[in-house]
Amino acid sequence: MSSGVRPGAPAREAKWDHEFDVIVVGSGSGGMTAAIVAHDLGQSVVVLEKSDQYGGTSAISGGGVWVPCNHLASAAGAKDSHDDALTYMKAATRGMVSEARMLAYLEHAPRMLRYLEEKTWLKYRAMANYSDYYPALPGSKSGNRTMDPLPFDASKLGEEFARMRPPQPGTLIGGRVTMTAGEAHTILCKERGWLMLFMRRMARYWLDIPWRLRSKRDRRLTLGSSMIGSLRRSMMDRRIPLWLNTSLESIVADARRIEGIVANQDGKSIRIAARRGVILAAGGFEHNQAMRDEYLPKPTQAEWTVTPTSNTGDAIRAGQGVGAQVALMDHAWWAPTVFVMGREKRRALFVERNLPGCVMVNRLGRRFVDEAAPYSEIVYAMYADDEKHHANMPAWLVFDADFRRKYPCGPLLPAMARPDKALPSAWLGKVYFKADTLDALAAQIEVDANGLRETVARMNQYAASGEDKEFGKGSNTFDRYYGDVNVKPNPCLAPIAKPPFYAMRIDAGDIGTKGGLLTDEYARVLGQDGNPIAGLYATGNTSASVMGPSYPGAGSTLGPAMTFGYIAAHHLAGV
Ligand SMILES: Cc1cc2nc3c(=O)[nH]c(=O)nc-3n(C[C@H](O)[C@H](O)[C@H](O)COP(=O)(O)OP(=O)(O)OC[C@H]3O[C@@H](n4cnc5c(N)ncnc54)[C@H](O)[C@@H]3O)c2cc1C
Repeated sequence: MSSGVRPGAPAREAKWDHEFDVIVVGSGSGGMTAAIVAHDLGQSVVVLEKSDQYGGTSAISGGGVWVPCNHLASAAGAKDSHDDALTYMKAATRGMVSEARMLAYLEHAPRMLRYLEEKTWLKYRAMANYSDYYPALPGSKSGNRTMDPLPFDASKLGEEFARMRPPQPGTLIGGRVTMTAGEAHTILCKERGWLMLFMRRMARYWLDIPWRLRSKRDRRLTLGSSMIGSLRRSMMDRRIPLWLNTSLESIVADARRIEGIVANQDGKSIRIAARRGVILAAGGFEHNQAMRDEYLPKPTQAEWTVTPTSNTGDAIRAGQGVGAQVALMDHAWWAPTVFVMGREKRRALFVERNLPGCVMVNRLGRRFVDEAAPYSEIVYAMYADDEKHHANMPAWLVFDADFRRKYPCGPLLPAMARPDKALPSAWLGKVYFKADTLDALAAQIEVDANGLRETVARMNQYAASGEDKEFGKGSNTFDRYYGDVNVKPNPCLAPIAKPPFYAMRIDAGDIGTKGGLLTDEYARVLGQDGNPIAGLYATGNTSASVMGPSYPGAGSTLGPAMTFGYIAAHHLAGV
């Protein structure tokens, strides 16, 4: 049975400017996967993209996908099972997601991955030691559920390369040279051979003279760039049109089904008919301050997100316009973010917190979380702490000269590569704070000095014993994944003792919102009466996440975006 569709824009009287079987809105990885699969199932498809660059947040992401029990994991010898994965997802999602959707995910994600590997340019590698994010939950695994995209050669994109959203400088060595997630891990954690690998990557970039004459960007695409570059090339092979500067405005529906959409193309209104269906894959609402104010916990600021500015919840609003239900609107893929000056503005702290020699505190100078916890959990902890003590928002990451010398932190490269005197002077007091004593630092950042001194003294005891008695930093496989392997007894703990001392302001940011249109196991959007709206599908951050409030492992957002895109394409093609 279909939901009674609330009529959207007027349908019948106006003629269509274009007609396709399937309209995909949004050119992130979910949209591109849906478009490729729908095309291969015999549908005529168009992909619409609001901005003048394709790829969305997916293009600036790590490109990792969390897909338990897939063929690459099996080939790598993973010990995993469908039951373990379901047990884990159920525990992580805490009853907030239907079992039917989780089962659909676990069944189709491995198929989606194999399909893309066999039929497109996109290739992955299982990450043997990248742990699930909640190692204490039943069914978790210490590796082989996250897949890292293999590098892709940008020259295969021809002129289209220039239109791909570029990666964030934070994912590049020196803002230029690309790394896979595996390489980044080796270099960051100073594993055996890290320096040689670093030199090889640099040499390869700078010696690629023909490409250097064409572009500053590295031809060796990795992470989200590799994923989006591979998918874009696969769309080009199939001649699937991708229309940039074309923004969904509203959905056209009669009382029975979705008929098409109204879009704005280069400032002109156009109407596009969809014979089989519309797949909404237009990301979340993270840049829409009014929607943040309406739905997310407070305080919240659009400027705290690190995603592209074109994600303003348009597709969620358009879905609501034809009677769709929404869910999980008060959740996001949270991540602590720091302010950066210049083009980039913001950066998420994914891994720096795991490294030894730093501590995160509230305004009382007190800790409130295991600093190495998954990024989503850090922000949940910030809100919980703020509710209790009204002394969070912002929080502060504090570290000493040793940490500063050895490790990167946000936009700061390790001081051994880029010392303070080489940083722009305007950064001091804005991007980072610095003082010779903890008391002086506390005064600068308006944090209680006694609290901070006591906290640091306790952290230093934990560093010596190797055991964090309060929050267990470094006590599990996830925490230790980004620890420094050379630091003993706990790779996530070292004394914070050597002046000068530093602080960076931490805001309750995100890498996308995760609430959106409620969908079923076929990615169909559900109406207020709980029945699907015929012809309307959603995936990625336009839909309420199959992961509920949790972040089970690296790749928990792209994996579902691509899988439910794959499922939607099959469903609307009637396969
Ligand atoms: C630095 C970083 C690293 C990350 N790493 C990972 C990772 O390794 N693994 C993982 O799973 N997740 C990761 N994420 C999160 C992940 O990238 C996002 O959650 C995911 O890309 C969302 O995909 P999407 O298709 O929903 O949206 P997007 O990829 O953002 O695509 C949506 C597209 O729709 C377009 N659009 C918006 N409105 C309209 C409209 N009205 N009409 C037409 N088009 C529109 C947007 O311009 C955008 O291009 C990371 C995020 C960041 C920021």
